[in-house]
Amino acid sequence: MSTLLVENIDHLATFDDANREIKGGALFVRDNVIEAVGTNAELAHLAADADNVLDLSGHLVMPGMVNTHHHMYQNLTRVMVQDDELFVWLTTLYPIWARLDDEAIYVSARVAMAELIASGCTTSSDHLYIQPNNVRLDSTIQAAQELGLRFHAARGAMSRGKSQGGLPPDNCVEKEEDILKDAERLIQTYHDPSRHAMSRIVLAPCSPFSVTPGLMKEAAKLARSHKGVHLHAHLAEDLDEEVYCRDIYGMRPVEFADSVDWLGPDVWFAHAIFLDSGEIKTFAETGTGMVHCPSANMRCGQGIAKIREMRDAGVTCGLGVDGSASNDTSNLFLEARLAQMLQRVAPHRYLSEAPGGRGGFGGSPKALSAREALDMATRGGAKLLGRDDIGYLAPGMSADFIAVRLNQLGLSGTQRDPLAAMIMCGPFKVDYSFINGRNIIRRGEFVHHDVEASLADHARIMQRIYQQ
Ligand code: ZN
Repeated sequence: MSTLLVENIDHLATFDDANREIKGGALFVRDNVIEAVGTNAELAHLAADADNVLDLSGHLVMPGMVNTHHHMYQNLTRVMVQDDELFVWLTTLYPIWARLDDEAIYVSARVAMAELIASGCTTSSDHLYIQPNNVRLDSTIQAAQELGLRFHAARGAMSRGKSQGGLPPDNCVEKEEDILKDAERLIQTYHDPSRHAMSRIVLAPCSPFSVTPGLMKEAAKLARSHKGVHLHAHLAEDLDEEVYCRDIYGMRPVEFADSVDWLGPDVWFAHAIFLDSGEIKTFAETGTGMVHCPSANMRCGQGIAKIREMRDAGVTCGLGVDGSASNDTSNLFLEARLAQMLQRVAPHRYLSEAPGGRGGFGGSPKALSAREALDMATRGGAKLLGRDDIGYLAPGMSADFIAVRLNQLGLSGTQRDPLAAMIMCGPFKVDYSFINGRNIIRRGEFVHHDVEASLADHARIMQRIYQQ
């Protein structure tokens, strides 16, 4: 047992149910759980009980952010296919990804996780949908354990190769019986449904154009036979996908999801750009969630997800950095910033019709506030993952929090609202990160992780993959 008092916090943004922001705040942590949140004065009596005291004067503290869509291995193929559409991007990269092996997966995950943690993420999912050669999801879980990241490993899969009418080449796909067997093994080995769990498993067939409806149905059945196993896939990401769904299944993507039992509070989809108002209502009514990945959507020229309309309809929206090959950066503060800005330029009929709205096509600075964007990055992401123990700072919650030093270039003049400044002036790196009560970053440096060594391993793997 050990206790920690974090005191003198300039600005403590709790994101709790009352959205409390406290000047001169403090946190009291016992082991991995927050026991008290309040002002310095309110928590002063706990000082005698604290094994450790951390003075965070001059810092903003907020909940660690939750990344709900990523393909970490893609940091081995950054800045590739810069100017083509999704299907060209994919078909160019599939043959390179077919050379991945288990060491490449492990090393790329370590680098990706360090990058996420350094930019404020404390919980992440990773959608590993291509598993050629000796690749196993286990290696990403091992990397998360070593880095200290709270991790929802998504057992991705592709089963419909080119010869079966799918998009990926046949050497990138797996047999469906093998996928389901491995999913069951992973759940038995790593899935922890309890509160404060550091490891959970997600079942995640890649997309409507790379698996069969049969696999989607079987994955849903398997996930629902275990407590807390959620379902994740790409949906309505690209108009080419909509055309594919109409041609092959005779349905729109959301109808397809419904037909394979993939709507519900245990399902979250990446992107969900091309949803009409009826489909947004369906998401809200069924509790189906979505993760918005603004960088990737802009990079691939896909479109703007209707976040304003979805939030107002009651759809759970989170944020994701998406794969490192379609985003090229991996920073949730940046995604929150872009989510805010992108909603503002979106031509929302809905907003134009609102009182005070400007008619016709055009954006609105009212479309999404900085706090709403950060709410997606914290509470929204936690809800997508089915967690009631992360996403905000309150007694009984996991001790996942980050701190950013306020006295630095780029933050001068923001004393009146340092929280909004995190994204309106950022993105920034964190100076402290605590995950499950463990100090991962201190004064801007990793406490236990050798970043230089990870980068050297990564460079060696890069050379091997591109030499082949
Ligand atoms: Zn993706």
